[in-house]
Amino acid sequence: MAGLKIKKGDKVEVLAGKYRGKQGKVLKSFPEDRRIIVEGVNLVKRHARPSQENPQGGIITKEAPIDISNVALICDSCSRTVRVGYNVNAEGAKKRVCRRCGADLD
Ligand SMILES: [Zn+2]
Repeated sequence: MAGLKIKKGDKVEVLAGKYRGKQGKVLKSFPEDRRIIVEGVNLVKRHARPSQENPQGGIITKEAPIDISNVALICDSCSRTVRVGYNVNAEGAKKRVCRRCGADLD
């Protein structure tokens, strides 16, 4: 299966929708659905049953997954969103690189 160009821990910017322009860290990725959860993006309110973490239950605010096509990776060297390319080293391992400045993204 092809991996996603965006992984957990990456810094991304939202390109479309209500959260357009917002930047955040990828908290979780769902490669099979091509969706990710970005910190502070696509917050939804949910009713929660009382649990150990949340003994009162009630309404909690949580990030919901968004489609990976709605975000772009931010390159630290460029300080802006960039396209991701791949470099294959002598051992055949793929590494993500910034298409703009060539910086290593992994
Ligand atoms: Zn760059």
